[in-house]
Amino acid sequence: MNPVRYAKAPSIAEAIATVSAERDALYIAGGTNVLDLMKLDVEEPALLVDITGLALRTIEATPSGGVRLGALATMADVADSPLVRSGFPVVSQALLASASPQLRNMATIGGNVLQRTRCAYFRDTSQDCNKRKPGNGCSALAGVNRMHSVIGTSSHCICSHPSDFATALLTVDALVHVTGMSGNRTIPIDELYVLPGDRPDIENVLQPGELVQSIELQASPHARGSAYLKVRDRASYEFALVSVAAALEIEGGNVLQARVGLGSVAPKPWRAHDVEAALIGKPANATTFDAAARIATRGMRGYGQNDYKIPLTMRTVRTALGLAGGIA
Ligand SMILES: Cc1cc2nc3c(=O)[nH]c(=O)nc-3n(C[C@H](O)[C@H](O)[C@H](O)COP(=O)(O)OP(=O)(O)OC[C@H]3O[C@@H](n4cnc5c(N)ncnc54)[C@H](O)[C@@H]3O)c2cc1C
Ligand code: SF4
Repeated sequence: MNPVRYAKAPSIAEAIATVSAERDALYIAGGTNVLDLMKLDVEEPALLVDITGLALRTIEATPSGGVRLGALATMADVADSPLVRSGFPVVSQALLASASPQLRNMATIGGNVLQRTRCAYFRDTSQDCNKRKPGNGCSALAGVNRMHSVIGTSSHCICSHPSDFATALLTVDALVHVTGMSGNRTIPIDELYVLPGDRPDIENVLQPGELVQSIELQASPHARGSAYLKVRDRASYEFALVSVAAALEIEGGNVLQARVGLGSVAPKPWRAHDVEAALIGKPANATTFDAAARIATRGMRGYGQNDYKIPLTMRTVRTALGLAGGIA
């Protein structure tokens, strides 16, 4: 048992000042990830700053037709929001495909985008893991790596990012609004995460103490024409093997705009720019979708037990494009 202090943040400013001032302090929102990892001795904060009393739960329309989601809005509330369901079906579908109803009632969307990998070696302190202890080695490279990544990996880490929600956010050009000791800034979701390289312990561009205040979904025709497809070992309450978020704007039978996000195949939610380029300006039909899906696997490599993810990615992209485009 590790001693840990607990403080309930009375204001956003005090939450940020407290966490910024103490190296081993962590925010706690729903607690569904951070408490799990504390029980496993993977996270060992000296101080937990509870942010659940802050006024960051609102889900509201923005003047430009988008939706601003407070960081403390629960996964359940966001999934059920009529604003999200009508303008951003991919987001609602990704959330409903995540975890379980109980978890979705507790877990917040700010915590969701910052959840840690589910790599079993990361979660087991008896195993070598460069993310937990840089320089210790990576047990997954030659280990049980069926759930691990096939793109964006390094010789130091091959973990996969588990968030369905963050994968969907890629396709609606989401913006993450954060505040720290040096003020406010806005980070496009695709720029929030960093690849492991030789520092797998660094997962995102947030500065110590920076607080996610809200996530903004930007309205667009492609966001309205979007869909999420998650392939997993069982139909519910399971992380993805491969997931695909697809968003298409189709006019006059041609693809005008496209966004494609891949989940659980990379250490961060992976935007498939090559696939998008292969779709834009082409007829929205089976031939185009087949060709674009083949491109999705460019640059992928397996590590043995996860080789299956490469053909599975191709098939999942193909089916997700069909769902987004209303074309089988
Ligand atoms: C059994 C199980 C199954 C699951 N299945 C899925 C699944 O299928 N798909 C999926 O996507 N997820 C899944 N999850 C993950 C779940 O969605 C996350 O645990 C949850 O969203 C985290 O939110 P939270 O509010 O509980 O975060 P917390 O546990 O409170 O925090 C998580 C991290 O975020 C930080 N943090 C929290 N809020 C903020 C903020 N506003 N600003 C800055 N930092 C912050 C915390 O310091 C901590 O590091 C599953 C979890 C469990 C336990
Ligand atoms: S894949 Fe990454 S998280 Fe998993 S053991 Fe290797 S270094 Fe650790």
